[in-house]
Parts: sequence; C-alpha cells; structure tokens
Amino acid sequence: MSPVAHTDLPPPITTARRRALAAFWNGAIDWDADMAGYCTLRAGGRAEALIKAGSRAELCRLIRWLEDHAVRWRVIGRGSNILVSGQGFRGVLIVLQGDFRAISRNGGGSAPAAAGVVVEAGAGCPLPKLVAWCGRQGLAGLEFMTGIPGSVGGAVCMNAGAWGRAVGDCLDFVGFVDREGRSRRVPRSGLVFSYRRLQPREAVLNDAVITGAGFVLQPGEPGEIQERCREYLARRREKQPGGVASAGSFFKNPAGDSAGRLIEAAGLKGFRSGRAMVSFEHANFIVNTGQASADEIIELMNEIQKRVFRASGIMLEPEVHLL
Ligand SMILES: Cc1cc2nc3c(=O)[nH]c(=O)nc-3n(C[C@H](O)[C@H](O)[C@H](O)COP(=O)(O)OP(=O)(O)OC[C@H]3O[C@@H](n4cnc5c(N)ncnc54)[C@H](O)[C@@H]3O)c2cc1C
Repeated sequence: MSPVAHTDLPPPITTARRRALAAFWNGAIDWDADMAGYCTLRAGGRAEALIKAGSRAELCRLIRWLEDHAVRWRVIGRGSNILVSGQGFRGVLIVLQGDFRAISRNGGGSAPAAAGVVVEAGAGCPLPKLVAWCGRQGLAGLEFMTGIPGSVGGAVCMNAGAWGRAVGDCLDFVGFVDREGRSRRVPRSGLVFSYRRLQPREAVLNDAVITGAGFVLQPGEPGEIQERCREYLARRREKQPGGVASAGSFFKNPAGDSAGRLIEAAGLKGFRSGRAMVSFEHANFIVNTGQASADEIIELMNEIQKRVFRASGIMLEPEVHLL
C-alpha cells in the first residue's frame, strides 16, 4: 500500500502562546494529548492541547481568548466519529463537560404544547444517558438512537441517525456559541438537516459550537419505551461487531446503495492495513484489532476507496471526520 499522504499543517502554537494560555486558563490543560484516549477507534495522533470546559461562561471566555490570540481550535464530543491523523492536531481541542451534561424537562422550546414535551440536553451529554433518562421519565421519541455512543453535540452536528430516523427529525431548537463567544438559540426553522449533516441557515453559525439542543418528545409508558430500546439494541448487535474499537460506519452510504454492500462486493471483508481491518461482521466498519495507528486506519480507508472505485465506479466518502 502507498504511504499516507500528509497534508500541509498549520503552524504549531508558539511557546509564548502556550505560556500565555497556561497563565490565562485556570483549569487543567492536557498538552500533547494522546487522542487514542479520546476516540472510540482507540487510535490517533496527538493534539497540541486539549481543554475541558464545564460551563457556558468558561467556554465563551476560552473561545474569545483563542480567537483573540489566533489559536486554532475545534470542539469534539465523545470521539465516536473522528480520527486525528498521525501528524496530530495543531491547535486546541475542546471537550464540553460539567453543566453541558445536564438534562432538563420543558427547556423553554418553541414547539406548541400539542406537539409534545420539550427536553433540553447539554451538548456534552452522552446519548446513552439521554436515551435512558427519557425512558425512565416516560418520554418517547429517541429510542432509535439506542446504541449510538456519541454526545448530544456530536449527534446534532452529524445529524446522527439509524433505522430510517435522524436526530434532526426530533429537534425543536439548537443552542450555539459562535466564534466570537456569543450565545444563540436557533429554532428548527433556522436549521437545515441532511444526511449526516447540520447546516444552520445563518453562515455565521457554520463553525459555531453546539452547546445544547431541545428535543420534542411524546409521553409514553416507561416499560414500553425501554422495551423498544432493548429491541433496537438487539437488532444492532445482530448486525454490528461488538466489543471492538471502531467509529461505527466508516463511509457514508452513496445515494441508493450501501457502503457496506459495495465494500463486501469488492471482496474486502477481513482486508487489513497493519492492525486495522475491515470487519467480517459488517464491511462498513473499520476495526482496530489491537494497537493500530491512525495512519494504518487512513491507509486502509484510502485502499478501500481505491478498490471499491475500481470495482464499482463509486468513490466512497468517509463519514468519519478526519482532524
Ligand atoms: C459502535 C458505533 C456505532 C455507531 N452507530 C451510529 C449510528 O447508528 N448512526 C450514526 O449516525 N452514527 C453512529 N456512530 C457514529 C457516532 O457515534 C455519531 O456520529 C455521533 O453522533 C458522534 O458523536 P460524538 O460526540 O462522538 O462526536 P465526535 O466524534 O467527537 O465529533 C464528530 C464531529 O462533530 C463535531 N462536534 C462534536 N461535538 C460538537 C459540538 N458540541 N459543537 C460543534 N461540533 C461538534 C466534531 O468537531 C466532529 O466534527 C456510531 C459509532 C460507533 C463507535
């Protein structure tokens, strides 16, 4: 296989900026963070710095500082759909925790009362926690998300979906902090959802941080909701590899076809690059069989794209975001 083609990297954070950031930020900074510890693929290069923000005030303060000092940054969620290449991430990665994990009923949404109950969840809230909470509260609508391991912020950003439904279908509003550190709440009429993508109508929000979302849910019987969750989980376990490091489906499904079918038809089940392998159970899963490096995974991704293209004329597009 050909070596991974490295792209031009932005310049590193200067020593003076590092010192200034360390003096400015009261909390911990994980310098030179090993991203294998922050991604479900359990692989990845290093991020120059990783910072956890626990409240909106902290987040806004941090973003303003980073913007004022021209330091590149990006927010990540639970790392279940990202991969940082072996070159690493130049800049600061931000993880939302603390207040951003909260869930509350009647989040003051814009949905008319007849449409259902609005539940507001912070962007850092793990989806499994939100789905379980809704089940206990007798609120139906999010069962289809059972087994998706991301955060609310990641799921909204990716318009995550399963079984013919997607997050965008049940949203009332999304909360943002823009790149100047200003908070905004945008009703669903201001958002365009498409396959694995959210695009706010206002361009200024395109690279903004999602801070939370309001979901419109229906009252239901807790036992029945929890039973539906168990059924979705059982269906998932039949089709997907369990107990292995992966990012779920690696490629987007091309219109009218399935990436898994194309990869299987190209004879690639079990195909490997080092310790990264195409799963035997589900051909659209790249699994880390041990200590695979990010570059082994990227090499495998490139090779799959090349071979599927040769076999079918279709160029697969990664669903996983490469940072
Ligand atoms: C076993 C397994 C099964 C999966 N099944 C599914 C499935 O059925 N359906 C599906 O759609 N996905 C699935 N996924 C993929 C993944 O879980 C989803 O895409 C999830 O929504 C990603 O959330 P995250 O918090 O992990 O985001 P991350 O992977 O951390 O980030 C994904 C992207 O979102 C951005 N982002 C994250 N948080 C924010 C924020 N607060 N504000 C702005 N941008 C943000 C990141 O910068 C990045 O570009 C699966 C993954 C695994 C490992």
